[in-house]
Amino acid sequence: MASAALRSVLKTKPTVKLFIDGKFVESKSSEWLDIHNPATNEVIARVPKATQEEMSAAADSCSRAFHSWSEMSILARQQIFLRYQQLIKDNIKELAKSITVEQGKTLADAEGDVFRGLQVVEHSCSITSLMLGETLPSITKDMDTYTYRLPLGVCAGIAPFNFPAMIPLWMFPMGMVCGNTYLLKPSERVPTCTMLLAKMLQDAGAPDGTLNIIHGQHDAVNFICDHPAIKAISFVGSNQAGEYIYERGSKNGKRVQSNMGAKNHGVVMPDANKENTLNQLVGAAFGAAGQRCMALSTAILVGEARSWLPELVERAKALRVNAGDQPGADVGPLISPQSKERVCSLIQSGVDEGAKVLLDGRNVKVKGYENGNFVGPTIIGNVTPEMKCYTEEIFGPVLVVLEADTLDDAISMVNNNPYGNGTAIFTTNGATARKYTHEVDVGQVGVNVPIPVPLPMFSFTGSRGSFRGDMNFYGKQGIQFYTQIKTVTSQWKAEDATLKSPAVTMPT
Ligand code: NAD
Repeated sequence: MASAALRSVLKTKPTVKLFIDGKFVESKSSEWLDIHNPATNEVIARVPKATQEEMSAAADSCSRAFHSWSEMSILARQQIFLRYQQLIKDNIKELAKSITVEQGKTLADAEGDVFRGLQVVEHSCSITSLMLGETLPSITKDMDTYTYRLPLGVCAGIAPFNFPAMIPLWMFPMGMVCGNTYLLKPSERVPTCTMLLAKMLQDAGAPDGTLNIIHGQHDAVNFICDHPAIKAISFVGSNQAGEYIYERGSKNGKRVQSNMGAKNHGVVMPDANKENTLNQLVGAAFGAAGQRCMALSTAILVGEARSWLPELVERAKALRVNAGDQPGADVGPLISPQSKERVCSLIQSGVDEGAKVLLDGRNVKVKGYENGNFVGPTIIGNVTPEMKCYTEEIFGPVLVVLEADTLDDAISMVNNNPYGNGTAIFTTNGATARKYTHEVDVGQVGVNVPIPVPLPMFSFTGSRGSFRGDMNFYGKQGIQFYTQIKTVTSQWKAEDATLKSPAVTMPT
């Protein structure tokens, strides 16, 4: 129970509720975390670390709701998600505002965040086709085999801070439309958008208990990894958390899909369309202040494309750094002062190791937002693969630039990097593009497309250090992740074909 002192502090700021059994409830926790506006560092709300009792109540609610939800007709579930996608569309601006105030990204980019999640909800409305099983009649005399695709039970999702709408929407709509109930833990730094999304799902008709939301950090994560009713965990976030969750969850017999960190390379060939390429590189490196797992944070300039570097710097310089809700803002703040400090120290590590900062955003000043976590677009040249600014994911508005003599050299650089989330090649030569797409060991490849996040009829992939598990998010793989197969073999013999004695040999 929260102390009197704590209760009086909590009164001064809005509190984020838990969503348990269809009700938005105030936590009884004595441990609360501040949520800050990254543009000002003001505390704007408080989020609880849910107590063990609250987390158990949420999981129990999911368990209780499973039977009727999974037995509900698939058309009825589909109708709920059809209504849900319309509600999200109708409220996209409100959702975007809640993202900008907690996460910092620009309003236009926040709308994109919602929109890309909305597409997954729209896709989930095709569940009547997506969940079809298989049949094979007459596998032997009078015998047919067919499969059902069935839900698993209670599934859980653990989300990161950088896409407060899109990533939760990768998780519970796909899981729930398959007939699972869902326990979600949003990022404790940006929970409000998820709560609005939960309310809309309730308004769309999702029965009580089908979605439950808990808040917290490690204890909540451990609860999810250990709870026996939870059959599958979807995680998106850093490698430190993702590897831990994959191991702990798998050890407890759960399916885990774990999307993790990235270092995405943009390979620039000298035959590329220069204007297009430079604009795409700058947009993909600095959009969302580089806090996207698909940000193009590394450029490899091949051959004569090296000479494009000064122009790249000029274009990055022209971006406007400002609070996300200010008109014309291109680059918003980082999520926290710690994040800013980490990004600045990684830039400095490049300098210390002999790289050259060609554009330095460390001392950027934003009028009226002097306390915000701003770093301006930064470009580091003369980078080599052993430098820390190359080996570590920076997750800020920093583009590191390497050079290569040939396409083969560029491919081997990309394949030697531990991450395999996304990459792009910029070229006008089809053979070059084909060679790259075939030889590069990365989950998502763009050809003249800087951020190749797949639409939901495909799956969001990722290889090597960027992913653990064997079934990816959304698309066909998402359906496989959230379902299991039951295979039925049935024989209906005519009366005169009835067995006259027991068959004791293995049927052939
Ligand atoms: P994070 O790992 O810090 O947090 C993600 C979630 O895990 C949060 O809900 C958090 O509460 C929990 N968590 C944090 N630390 C933990 C720990 N040590 N043990 C257990 N749980 C922990 O990630 P973030 O900072 O919110 O997000 C940024 C990271 O996410 C980046 O590395 C980015 O590349 C990655 N990301 C990956 C993808 C992808 O699809 N591959 C998409 C978006 C973000």
